[in-house]
Amino acid sequence: MEVKKDNKIFVTKSYMPPLEEYMEYINKVFDNAQLTNGGPIVNKLEAELRDYLKVDNIQYVTNGTIALQLALRALDIQDGEVITTPFSYVATTSAIMWEKLKPVYVDIEPDNFTIDPKKIEEKITSKTKAIMPVHVFGYACDVEAIQKIADKHDLKVIYDAAHTFASIYKGKSLASYGDISTLSFHATKLFHTVEGGACIIKDETVKKELDLMKRFGHNGDEHYCLGINAKQSEMHAAMGLSILPHISEIIDKRKQICNLYDSLLQGFVVRPKVQRDLEYNYSYYPVVFKSESELLKVFEALNKEEIFPRRYFYPSLNMLPYHNDYHACPVSEDIAQRIACLPLYPSLDLDDVQRIANIIIKNIGK
Ligand SMILES: *Cc1c(COP(=O)(O)O)cnc(C)c1O
Repeated sequence: MEVKKDNKIFVTKSYMPPLEEYMEYINKVFDNAQLTNGGPIVNKLEAELRDYLKVDNIQYVTNGTIALQLALRALDIQDGEVITTPFSYVATTSAIMWEKLKPVYVDIEPDNFTIDPKKIEEKITSKTKAIMPVHVFGYACDVEAIQKIADKHDLKVIYDAAHTFASIYKGKSLASYGDISTLSFHATKLFHTVEGGACIIKDETVKKELDLMKRFGHNGDEHYCLGINAKQSEMHAAMGLSILPHISEIIDKRKQICNLYDSLLQGFVVRPKVQRDLEYNYSYYPVVFKSESELLKVFEALNKEEIFPRRYFYPSLNMLPYHNDYHACPVSEDIAQRIACLPLYPSLDLDDVQRIANIIIKNIGK
């Protein structure tokens, strides 16, 4: 029986490498019969990522959320407050809270949705231990201003860099700033290993600590520290190794789609401003509508055509129902009400981009 092709268009679609390239690595795994515990495929992926991102210390782990939690642990951030952004995926906040730390929200810049450094200092108290900003959608935080504040108040900086793979800022990887930057290699991200993540670590000692922590805190019979299991498998690393050689064609294709959206939608929706010093990775295509009702009207029309954009990110994280106090972040709350990401993935047809833009334009006024 013939399987009917599914014509639904979602906000993203996982990139699948050529099967034979993936199978080359899988064959090696079968030959080695080592599936995990820092095998040769994991080590090779770590080495290739180090080269590609031009960073010294990288630790490949099971996902981007545990990467954030390990970063907090390895930097010894306990019992206190972490300054963070309300405009992100929920994992940024949940990683902080899961570690029994308190997230303190600082509102965002309206132009690129990253944390507003001018508003950070007023939120610093004697309990503040760290700042956890997010390069949301791959746009760069004001890394210099943030580092200046961190130095002045002796705070650690952990960037949630889940969206920044391949972004270059001021000549170096956007994922190389701060004490630690964390990446997510989840199936829906620009670069993926099915599930996976990484910590990029400035300090060699912290890197060694984190390396122990991700494998139960011990080396053979020698137990050094409290650990957890965040080791990644050879099968996952194989996916990464077979995708990495295709990364520039993936980004080129995304860029082409983004440029077409830009030319069609100009004047109809508001777009973030990309910083001059940023080589952007085209990881997302966020658009801001005039109002939530306009967004909902567009969604209804798109959904009728089996096109499913997503409300990234909604709600603003300071509004999560499991917070027991409310701290206003008016810019983030406003943007979260009326922002969405349009479908964007390398295999998305340019005719479909045209169709999506037409539906949007038909349903909103200039
Ligand atoms: C995807 C994502 C994460 C979580 O990564 P996982 O690998 O899914 O655990 C964290 N932060 C942000 C901003 C993300 O988009």
